[in-house]
Amino acid sequence: MGFESGRRGFLTGSAALGAMSLGGCATSINTGVAPAPEPVDFRPRPQLAPMLARSDRIMNITVCLRPFRAAGPRLDTETVGDKLVVHNYGHGGSGWSLSWGSALIAVKKALAGGEADIAVIGAGALGLTAARVAQRAGAKVTIYAKDLMPDVRSARATGVWSPDSRIALEKSVAPGFPVLWEEMARNSFRMHMGYLGLADEPVAWTERYALSDAPFGRRAPDPLGFVHYETPTLDDLTPEPQVLEPGAFPFNVAHARRTILPMFNITEYGRVLLGDFLLAGGKVEIREFHAPSELSTLRQKAIINCTGYGARALWKDESLTPVRGQIAWLIPQPEVTYGISYRGVGTVSRRDGIVIQKTGADDSWGWNDANETPDRAEAEEAVRTIAPVFEPRARGLAPAEARRSTPPEGC
Ligand SMILES: Cc1cc2nc3c(=O)[nH]c(=O)nc-3n(C[C@H](O)[C@H](O)[C@H](O)COP(=O)(O)OP(=O)(O)OC[C@H]3O[C@@H](n4cnc5c(N)ncnc54)[C@H](O)[C@@H]3O)c2cc1C
Repeated sequence: MGFESGRRGFLTGSAALGAMSLGGCATSINTGVAPAPEPVDFRPRPQLAPMLARSDRIMNITVCLRPFRAAGPRLDTETVGDKLVVHNYGHGGSGWSLSWGSALIAVKKALAGGEADIAVIGAGALGLTAARVAQRAGAKVTIYAKDLMPDVRSARATGVWSPDSRIALEKSVAPGFPVLWEEMARNSFRMHMGYLGLADEPVAWTERYALSDAPFGRRAPDPLGFVHYETPTLDDLTPEPQVLEPGAFPFNVAHARRTILPMFNITEYGRVLLGDFLLAGGKVEIREFHAPSELSTLRQKAIINCTGYGARALWKDESLTPVRGQIAWLIPQPEVTYGISYRGVGTVSRRDGIVIQKTGADDSWGWNDANETPDRAEAEEAVRTIAPVFEPRARGLAPAEARRSTPPEGC
């Protein structure tokens, strides 16, 4: 890619300049000819602050269930009594990423009959975005939900752009799903970008380093057969990943690949979405539904069902499979501006803490596990797994020895 070839060009120029110099700290020779301007060195520098990956910095452990459906999110409609119910649930590990695009599809269906008074059930990522999209289309909207942020499952997500994470199984999707998914993803991405630049950064861009002891190969085989669409379909939305040269990263591993991607500071994103909803005249009612028939008590005729994993009990939807994910939260380190992934553990540095999550070797970790009890041993193991990456690069040396063994730079 352009950056790489530019960098190679710079190295050539640099070597040429080096060959002309007399070495050491000798002063330049006055030839009477103005020297060529020093090329600017844009090479990535290992100036990343180390993450303090220590178990005594764990301040919280949370568990969330991804609402997974083999066929992908449920977006069909049905009538319950005199109500039109538009379903908008089952977004697996992609609920935040796809939320806006999914909302656009659901709201269009809810408004198709000319209704201007809309009920949204649920106030997670899918409910809040559906409510905002309906408001922006001119509707009066009431959210009915058992829980609000920060008590909803969406509040316990990692918070990165992951539009095809555990979204469906290859063998179960309808032929039109890839196109529908791309529409959702592109519309969502565009909407997320509209939240950049705000105070407290509900949406930001971040760097993520995939770290490995062995050279990067092909993606590990996926035993469950999840769909993987993001590459190449959405490659134009984010910069091309770069495999870094040794020395261009400070981590104590042999191989590193850097990606740059959007992230969501979920605590703030949720507050902004709910705040905007209320500012635009939206109403919220705390309420739990135990059966679809209870929807008949609502005054609205069009209802968008955004109950996430809750739809399994409410709608008796056995097609919803829980995929457990646990996060160990380390005390925030604002100076850590990147995340890593290493040996099946991923991290994201957010304003509200450093998220550390065991993701396993493939996406099957947590599959069909509905246990929402935090597991301290799993959290500590995840922290222990990544800790060596932040040790001084020369493995086996004490920090002071490692520093001494590094040749002095310059003169
Ligand atoms: C560990 C982990 C990390 C994740 N990381 C990411 C990520 O980085 N990026 C990403 O895009 N996605 C991520 N996800 C996926 C994402 O969190 C989910 O897809 C998303 O939260 C689903 O949102 P939702 O609004 O459908 O459901 P929920 O957040 O569960 O919201 C459901 C709402 O419905 C209400 N409700 C439910 N049942 C009833 C009822 N019977 N009566 C009344 N109200 C009811 C609830 O109170 C709540 O308000 C992650 C998931 C996990 C587990």
